[in-house]
Amino acid sequence: MQSFFYKLRQWMYGRYGVDQLSIAIVIFSMAVSFILLFFRVPYIVRLIPTLLIILAFFRILSRNIEKRRRENQRFMQFFNRSKTEYYAVKTQVQDRKYFKYFKCPNCKAKLRVPKGKGRLNITCPKCRTMFHGKT
Ligand SMILES: [Zn+2]
Repeated sequence: MQSFFYKLRQWMYGRYGVDQLSIAIVIFSMAVSFILLFFRVPYIVRLIPTLLIILAFFRILSRNIEKRRRENQRFMQFFNRSKTEYYAVKTQVQDRKYFKYFKCPNCKAKLRVPKGKGRLNITCPKCRTMFHGKT
């Protein structure tokens, strides 16, 4: 068994290996194949999960390490941005009973104001622009 792992390590030497993007591609392909169970789709569409798995393996076994690293970096930037936006929206939904959200007309900053205060003059804390808002 040890020699198996030894051979595997030898074979993987100089290859890129597993990263977050490849894991995400595998998870995505599993999700797609699960969703496809419920739909009648052309055969070519049924190939998509398989092609995604092949893509993930291509990345894992790739010898172009620098390029794969850059792809993963871009993916992680996108992923983190989406995560931040998701939590911002989630907080806004949870707070909707007590707070009203406004967008500053000047700098587009998002502002949170307590609800039920009637008409207010709101000053943007970022750029000091004043605007009216109904809470
Ligand atoms: Zn502003």
